[in-house]
This record gives sequence, structure tokens and C-alpha cells, in this order.
Amino acid sequence: MSSSPVSPFRGGSVSEAVSGAEIRLEKVTKRYPGSAEPAVDDVTMTIPAGKIVILVGPSGCGKTTTMRMINRLIEPTSGRISIGGEDALRLNPDQLRRKIGYAIQQAGLFPHFTVAQNIAVVPGLLGWDRKRIGDRVEQMMDLVGLDPKVFHDRYPRQLSGGQLQRVGVARALAADPPVLLMDEPFGAVDPITRGNLQDELLRLQAELRKTIVFVTHDFDEAVKLGDKIAVLGDRSAILQYDTPDAILANPADDTVAGFVGAGASLKQLTLLRVRDVELRKDTVTARLSDPPAQVRRELTERGETFALILDERDRPVRWAHVRDLASASSLSTAGKPVGDLVSLQSTLQDALEAMLVEGGAVPVTGPRGEYAGVIELDTVTATVQRLREEHS
Ligand code: ADP
Ligand code: MG
Repeated sequence: MSSSPVSPFRGGSVSEAVSGAEIRLEKVTKRYPGSAEPAVDDVTMTIPAGKIVILVGPSGCGKTTTMRMINRLIEPTSGRISIGGEDALRLNPDQLRRKIGYAIQQAGLFPHFTVAQNIAVVPGLLGWDRKRIGDRVEQMMDLVGLDPKVFHDRYPRQLSGGQLQRVGVARALAADPPVLLMDEPFGAVDPITRGNLQDELLRLQAELRKTIVFVTHDFDEAVKLGDKIAVLGDRSAILQYDTPDAILANPADDTVAGFVGAGASLKQLTLLRVRDVELRKDTVTARLSDPPAQVRRELTERGETFALILDERDRPVRWAHVRDLASASSLSTAGKPVGDLVSLQSTLQDALEAMLVEGGAVPVTGPRGEYAGVIELDTVTATVQRLREEHS
């Protein structure tokens, strides 16, 4: 974003690559008046600049309280919080909040403001001129995939749940804050919209490189979005703070393991890539121009039933069964087209999904789309088995 205002945070939006700022919590405690137990007890953690850190834990464990202390919607009882090296507790809270985007479930939009007016709130508070605000509103709507021509003057009640959340994210990003706090922002939408919003957030973040603190109680969402995940227990106690794959592979204790869930080895399929497992390399292959009878002979000699047909640039195009070849005049019409392919970069989850469509074996391609081998269902099954044994 070229229109970035000067950040109040030292080490904030200076680097061209990372616009986020590091957040540090040191021995932070919150005791609500009248409660015997603190809601957040002595939490210390560092949230690295430009990363997405997920706070995940059961309802009531203190996620929202922890997050809201970062922008001082809730004042800590004790402890220190710094953002970009600056002591957040010594800044004026209103000014602090204008530099920290905040997106919540149900989007929290003002019902009597249009979409454009909602997005313009913080730039307005910061005293930007009308032209700059207008340009920024359009830019933000584009960024979150809402056509300004359609949505500019709509009111929140005229939007779907997913559209509301997009406006919420646009509003949170409008003043280009180095830090974005998101409290179960996609909690109220259907699973498909939720998946789309998650994908959008990852796409945005690849471009923006904000420091994002994201609260959820959904571990799958945490694995999908997090560069790091903090698994929280009662009073926001940090049970484990690590990358998603490290947590999936080695839950710190039984509580974390329980939270990770029985499907942990299946979830790990989203972290492993096709290039990490053994591919079958001895599948019979042929060229489109080869005579069908010759391919049929080779299959028979090798006791195989299927040949993979490659085009002139080595890309897999068809599967031919030995039966198809007896009467075929050309390999360009024999058998059936390859339905789904995966690349060496694809996840094992992608490969598994392709197998559900293609059958038990899926062709794998290299960087230029060229044939690199075949991944088989047995390989994926064996990987799940191995992961499960490592867990137990
Ligand atoms: P989470 O977001 O993980 O569901 P919260 O941070 O909202 O958890 O709440 C943590 C604990 O603090 C809960 O026991 C909750 O009842 C309590 N709590 C939250 N807000 C207040 C408040 N304003 N006054 C008193 N207790 C509160
Ligand atoms: Mg909460």
C-alpha cells in the first residue's frame, strides 16, 4: 500500500516487504472486577512482525480478553505490552486503536452507515481529506472482492453474512494499520463462504504482510491460516506455541492432543507435499503417436493393465486400459482423458481428493507440466498410517 500513513510504531511500516510490527506481551494479567480468578493470568508471548498468529482454545479461556488488551479495549491489570518496540500502555488509547485494525464476528458494522461510510470511519478519524478517503474506500472494496459500483451505497442489512465480513475486513484495513486483530471474524458464516474468506485472507496477507492476531476456536481454521498457533488453556495459559506442523506432529500434552483431535494425521495431509513422498515411476507410458498395438504388447509383457499417454511435450493426457487398445486406431482416442492431475507442489490432501475423482492413482507433473510419476492411494494410506504411529 503506497498510501501508508506514518506508523507510530518504531520498526513499523518501514520495510518494503513486511508492513507489520512485532507485538510483545510480558506477564500480562487481567482480573475483571468482582472475579476471584484472573481471566488472563501471566501471559508472555512474542508475535513476530508480518506473520499470522492464531490464538486457539475453548470458549471462555480468555482469547478475546487477551486480544482486546493489545488494542486496549480492555486495560491489563498488570504486565507490559509493546508494539513495534513501543510501550502500548503509554500511548493514547484512541490513537493506538486507529493504528490497529480490528475485525470481529458479525463484522460489527454501523447499521445506519453505508458500506462506504463504514469503511471510511478510521480514515475519517485520522483526518484524511475527502478525495483520499474516497479513493481508499474504492481500493479497499476491490481488495476484498466487493464491486464498488454495486456495494458502495448499500446498508449492512442489505448484505449477506460473507459480504458483511468482507466489509469488516476492508474497514479494519482501511487506514493501513501495521497490526490487524481478528476475533472469530468468520465464525458466523456458512462453511463454504468461510473457506472462501480464509483463502482471501491468505491472498491479502501474501501482499500486505501485516502482523495479524487471529482468534478462533476452530483448530482446522488455525492450521489453515496460522504461521504460528498458540493453543490456549484456562486463563489463556499457553499450552503450546509453534508452527501448525510442529503442533500436529507433536502435541505438547494430552490437552493439546485432545484439541488437535482424532483427525490429526489426516490434517497433516494438508502440510505434506506430493514431492515429499515416493512416486511410482514405472507406470507404462506411451506417446500419442505410438501405435496402440505396440503399447498393448508392452502392457501384456509387463503384466500391467493401464498405460499413461503423454503428449509431445510430455504432459499426461489420457489413460488407456489394455482392453481399449485392441480395437483402437490411435492413442489420441483410446481410453479416457486424464481427469485430475497434481503437481509436485500439491498437498497430499489435494492428491487424496484427486484420487477420489480419478481412482486410486493420479499422474504427477513437474514445474513445466511434464510427467513426473504417479501417486497412488497406497502411498497416501501408508503415510497416514506412519503419522498415526508417530503420534501414539
Ligand atoms: P474467550 O474469548 O476465549 O471465549 P473471554 O476472554 O471472552 O474468553 O472470557 C474469558 C473469561 O473472562 C470468561 O470466564 C468470561 O466469563 C470472563 N469475562 C469476559 N469478559 C468479562 C467482563 N467484562 N467481566 C467479567 N468477566 C468477564
Ligand atoms: Mg471470545
